[in-house]
Amino acid sequence: MAVYNTSSDSANTAVRAFLTKVGEFYFGASFNTASGKGKAVWAKIKEQDFNGCCAYCGDSSSTLQVEHHLMFNRTEYGLHHPGNVVPCCKGCNKRTRKADKSFSNWEEHLLAVCYQKGQADKFESRKIIIQAHIKNFHYPELTASEKHAIRVIANSLYDNIKIESDKSLGLYKELDKAFNKEI
Ligand SMILES: [Zn+2]
Repeated sequence: MAVYNTSSDSANTAVRAFLTKVGEFYFGASFNTASGKGKAVWAKIKEQDFNGCCAYCGDSSSTLQVEHHLMFNRTEYGLHHPGNVVPCCKGCNKRTRKADKSFSNWEEHLLAVCYQKGQADKFESRKIIIQAHIKNFHYPELTASEKHAIRVIANSLYDNIKIESDKSLGLYKELDKAFNKEI
């Protein structure tokens, strides 16, 4: 749990909540990977689609985390949907960055991991498994207009939450001033 929270943290959380809702809208059900039906779907993805292994490095010895291969943020607007989650070891769940410091997309990340581990020959087969998984779970093929709409709404949500969060301190200072005058 974060011990230091900024207004950007709350704004990013709101964006992820929105991407979760849109993902569940396309999936047609809630998708909580920690309980109920969502947990069963997640178990199936891990065991059947990925054979209990990390989607990027193939490791099966560590605890596998939920990774959104289309990033679950304001960079890629990946949705929280079964077709967009893959099992991932802790080491691979830190997205590599490119020379310009921007995050790698999932294919670039997969390629970087395969090279780092000396498994370049596994890149194509792992890529095919992830692509098949996306298709199996019918991850929505969004049109350019739909992607644009998601981007506009997510950015508006981010700005509004950040502004509200920042405004709160100003509001507190104003009220505090008034209270001090009363004494
Ligand atoms: Zn891994």
